Amino acid sequence: MKQVLANYAVNTENSRGRRIPEESPAERSEFQRDRDRVIHSAAFRRLEYKTQVFVNHEGDLYRTRLTHSLEVAQIARSVARAMRLNEDLTEAISLAHDLGHTPFGHAGQDALNACMWDFGGFEHNLQSLRVVDELEHRYAAFAGLNLTFETREGILKHCSLSNARRLGDLGERFILRRQPSLEAQLANLADEIAYNNHDVDDGLRSGLIDLADLTSIELFAEQRALVREAYPRLHPRIEAHEIVRGMIGALVKDLVMTSRARIGSLAPPSIDAVRSHSAPLIGFSEPFRDTQSALKRFLGEHLYRHPRVKTMTDRAAEIVTALFAAFTEDYARMPEDHAKRAREAHDGRGAAAGARVVADYVAGMTDRFAMQTHERLVDKR
Ligand code: MG
Repeated sequence: MKQVLANYAVNTENSRGRRIPEESPAERSEFQRDRDRVIHSAAFRRLEYKTQVFVNHEGDLYRTRLTHSLEVAQIARSVARAMRLNEDLTEAISLAHDLGHTPFGHAGQDALNACMWDFGGFEHNLQSLRVVDELEHRYAAFAGLNLTFETREGILKHCSLSNARRLGDLGERFILRRQPSLEAQLANLADEIAYNNHDVDDGLRSGLIDLADLTSIELFAEQRALVREAYPRLHPRIEAHEIVRGMIGALVKDLVMTSRARIGSLAPPSIDAVRSHSAPLIGFSEPFRDTQSALKRFLGEHLYRHPRVKTMTDRAAEIVTALFAAFTEDYARMPEDHAKRAREAHDGRGAAAGARVVADYVAGMTDRFAMQTHERLVDKR
């Protein structure tokens, strides 16, 4: 395994290891173990019932956070293998990157952040890290999943400076403006490729955006022309899929070529050279970066702020806000173990610590559990 990895890839020898030392697994790498722990976590199973863009009950064919995470892992693994990076690590990061997401996607996270404003805020990246470091309770020897430094580093894509200062070795790179591993850089961009493209696909399927609107995006127009030339009479659904497939292919190809060229000219002798470099080495060429921004802008205007999506997100914000208020007012409205933890945190470390336990509980909810709980607690009150 090790000899096929590039010398700037993460491997078992250059890994900074786990917070609580454990014996190495017998038949797996440390990073396979990380991936497996993520898959066996409760937070991972909940991703199936959490919104990506469309709330889970709106249709069976739309992406959920779970299928999104699988698509991210698929893209990241392909690129990792092509570039001789650590595929298992990239997969572990990809599958874990959204574990901290609230119910109802970004609307839920924004609402929870507003609720937590006076108590240190709520950041979903940091929450993903809290899930794997503290909130999962499955192992006898430690809280959380005790993942390697490199998987945790990849999960924490962004972080405010004030939080970075409290995170020790993991926060260091935000303060010193250093880079994470190439595997982490890659998982981050695979996330972008995945959501831009699957949101186009889901947007088309929902009828909220249409093919003609999308031709304002150059890459989309190019791929559409290629598909039409090869297959002039395709069913629109197949045509859409072929175009999206072509876009993913073009983005991935550009990512590999651009990153290879950057790595080639720097020739980092080790992972330290990657980390101390002034900018990420994994990235798109200028034109493809512009394409990604154009896609993001388009989806923002036409899909994420579409009146039908907006109705859902407004309702989502209402539910999250009301749940947070109800639990903060009376911790006993939460299940006994959460209530007890909130009371102890509050008594020991003040209201902010109590609110954090409430935020953890609300963030962990699936869409439908949040709706059911809201109905039981708030609507009927
Ligand atoms: Mg994501």
